[in-house]
Amino acid sequence: NHFWVKQWPYDMQTISEVLPVEAERGVKLGGVLIEGLVKGRKSILYPRWGNEDFQRRREAAGGSNWYHSNVLTWAWRKVGSPPLEEEQWAARYEWEEDGRKRRLGKGWQRVPAWRDYPGGIKAWVEWVLANDPAAAEGCFVTIPPILRDEHEIEEWKQATVEQEIRIKEDCARVKFAGQPLAVLFPKHTANGNCVRPSECPYLDLCWGVGGDDPLGTGRYQRRVPNHPQELAP
Ligand code: SF4
Repeated sequence: NHFWVKQWPYDMQTISEVLPVEAERGVKLGGVLIEGLVKGRKSILYPRWGNEDFQRRREAAGGSNWYHSNVLTWAWRKVGSPPLEEEQWAARYEWEEDGRKRRLGKGWQRVPAWRDYPGGIKAWVEWVLANDPAAAEGCFVTIPPILRDEHEIEEWKQATVEQEIRIKEDCARVKFAGQPLAVLFPKHTANGNCVRPSECPYLDLCWGVGGDDPLGTGRYQRRVPNHPQELAP
């Protein structure tokens, strides 16, 4: 959508990511290209149940899940009756042909391709590419190149280095000088971000009792350095 496309030139990644690639490859990059994969709306409830004993059967089977509606992961299938009629597959329920809207007829069902298509997801994606490439193309979005901007890179570098130094110093103030954590690391709660779009993993540390002894809760552990730069002597 419009917002998704518009956000990238202002995203820290598109400004900073050229630097490590340049350092590793020894070449200067012209900018960043972003190719997006459209996941689709989370609009498929699966498995589906009939109406009569919906609740009982659903609970007995452990419930249903919501899935992203995407032609690369969900297939339309019409069960055949061999040898008279073969099983049929389609990527879309609706499409346009010669300027007219067309639909699959009766007997088609949407099924998880990773489970039901012979050969699984890889075979299904190959089927879509061979039989309905337009449906697959609709899943990819390429946005205009984000050109390298020396000024923005320099500003990002200055701000980030400064911020990292401040965090390190403030950690030492909390740990060794007994200064209050809440003052040096205030809670940022704008736009309901403690619970949106999903519950923040640190909710209990900030708002519950877990903050008194994070390791004691059993839900957290000390980070082990894993980047080569951190491990270098
Ligand atoms: S719970 Fe998460 S989002 Fe809310 S203040 Fe704490 S760290 Fe920030």
